[in-house]
Amino acid sequence: VRKFFVGGNWKCNGTAEEVKKIVTVLNEAEVPSEDDVGNGPFFFSFAEVVVSPPFVFLPVVKGLLRPDFHVAAQNCWVRRGGAFTGEISAEMLVNLGIPWVILGHSERRSLLNESNEFVGDKVAYALSLGLKVIACVGETLQQRESGSTMAVVAAQTKAIAANVSYWDNVVLAYEPVWAIGTGKVATPAQAQEVHLELRKWLHDNVGAEVAASTRIIYGGSVNGANCKELAGQPDVDGFLVGGASLKPEFIDIIKSAT
Ligand code: 13P
Repeated sequence: VRKFFVGGNWKCNGTAEEVKKIVTVLNEAEVPSEDDVGNGPFFFSFAEVVVSPPFVFLPVVKGLLRPDFHVAAQNCWVRRGGAFTGEISAEMLVNLGIPWVILGHSERRSLLNESNEFVGDKVAYALSLGLKVIACVGETLQQRESGSTMAVVAAQTKAIAANVSYWDNVVLAYEPVWAIGTGKVATPAQAQEVHLELRKWLHDNVGAEVAASTRIIYGGSVNGANCKELAGQPDVDGFLVGGASLKPEFIDIIKSAT
């Protein structure tokens, strides 16, 4: 059984004061704890919740955040740290007890020219240090309209999968570029179609067990109003939320776990 996963990607947003306010909202939210699953009045099994502040806020958020929620970095350097001005190494994340890292986000692929191979190398290095990885894939509008969605996400997934031997530490995030920050959320059918194809890809190229157990989460204009229907799709195992993760409605998204 795949535990519902909700990630909040805060991207390059927030002041120290705003970040503390967001954490306060999360900490005060009434969501069932993992201990409640099965014995409380809750009909859903509770989600794994991970929030991803900018690097400079990671220590303070980790320090203040409720213990049942966890933190992720939004990126890390591709290999061992050293003379790489401006970069943050995977070793540093491990040193600070940051358990998760987001890799291959489309904003980094497009704005910072991160290639499939570079993302694959980052995945390999982060996993080798014991970090857990949220690995992102997704097609542009032009790619979707030209009918190459599956070829694009398969190539991205292949470059990631080539570097994974222990899939328990990987969550695959399908984030169509045209849906990110646009308010144009994928329909539940569109999301389900690609998630199912990705699961088939994992089945055929990695193995049946990995395909059945790996969480495939959706990202792109998820909000409190559209999350429930998306969460009801059989192959949608959670969300990676951008804009709405900075707002109280993130709690509603967490509660959409079915
Ligand atoms: P939005 O939810 O703001 O569309 O962003 C999605 C995203 O990129 C999460 O990583």
